[in-house]
Amino acid sequence: MSNQPASALSSPRFCNMGTFMRMPHIQSAKGLDFAIAGAPFDTASSFRSGSRFGPHAIRSISCMMKPNNVIQQVNIMDSLTGGDMGDFPIVPGYIHPSYAAIEAGVAGILSDGALPIVLGGDHSITLAELRAVAKKYGPVALIHFDSHSDLCDEVFGEKYNHGTPFRRALEEGLIDPAHCIQVGMRGSLYDPNEHKIAAELGMKLIPAHIIRKMGLDALIAAMKERVGNKPCFLTFDIDFVDPAYAPGTGTPEVGGFTSLEALELIRSLTDINFVGFDIVEVLPAYDHGEITAYLAANIVFEFLSILALQKSSQN
Ligand code: MN
Ligand code: MN
Repeated sequence: MSNQPASALSSPRFCNMGTFMRMPHIQSAKGLDFAIAGAPFDTASSFRSGSRFGPHAIRSISCMMKPNNVIQQVNIMDSLTGGDMGDFPIVPGYIHPSYAAIEAGVAGILSDGALPIVLGGDHSITLAELRAVAKKYGPVALIHFDSHSDLCDEVFGEKYNHGTPFRRALEEGLIDPAHCIQVGMRGSLYDPNEHKIAAELGMKLIPAHIIRKMGLDALIAAMKERVGNKPCFLTFDIDFVDPAYAPGTGTPEVGGFTSLEALELIRSLTDINFVGFDIVEVLPAYDHGEITAYLAANIVFEFLSILALQKSSQN
């Protein structure tokens, strides 16, 4: 199959130009099912910076990925077409020009009829992606994996920060709160009512300790029920996963989920009508043995497997 990424059985993994999974480097998403792009912006980070190197790290270790998902019984490239577009031309230190670049890039992918898969970058980038997605689909459903709700009104007196994207997305009418679910929140807080704010804004938030009580199957059912058939954006902040498994991130919170649990959760979302996806907050400088970046690459792979399953069931 010409569509398949280079096989490490004939071409060594370290021989590559640095695209995700050694996929083709594409200039346009026209006629493709998906397009991967990096948004290496980290100036909206509140603590450790360096997630600007996240896309590079994810791509680098993604040379380990093979196209067959044995559990899902699907080869991601048999039915799907897609590739890696490289990075959006963000402007370090300047959030609004960066937002404009990310929004234009995602809008281009969407107008080409492909699904955008964005590698962050800090979580502020998701607002720009949602602006493009909502222009095409109207207010979308949201599944948000994170240890933080990212619903702050302001951080350091600023409205645009990696702690505020979903508050802004609500205000801008980019997401439909009745179909939004945020999962995995935990850790100490300044505002003891922070988790209640989500409900006041019409969102559904399930903190990590409640997920532990209800179990993952009940969580999966809650996510599916909340989203229904609506076009849905999936955003995955790598700090959803416990820092024991994903140390390479900017604002870690202990008491999180294992890498296996994260993969199983994504794997379960096979019947959601996804219109966009991002994985954010991978910070290679704090990573060890590339484990965080490798987990991120595997999460992208699980997401691609869902798209492949959905497309092959249509054919
Ligand atoms: Mn976040
Ligand atoms: Mn977070």
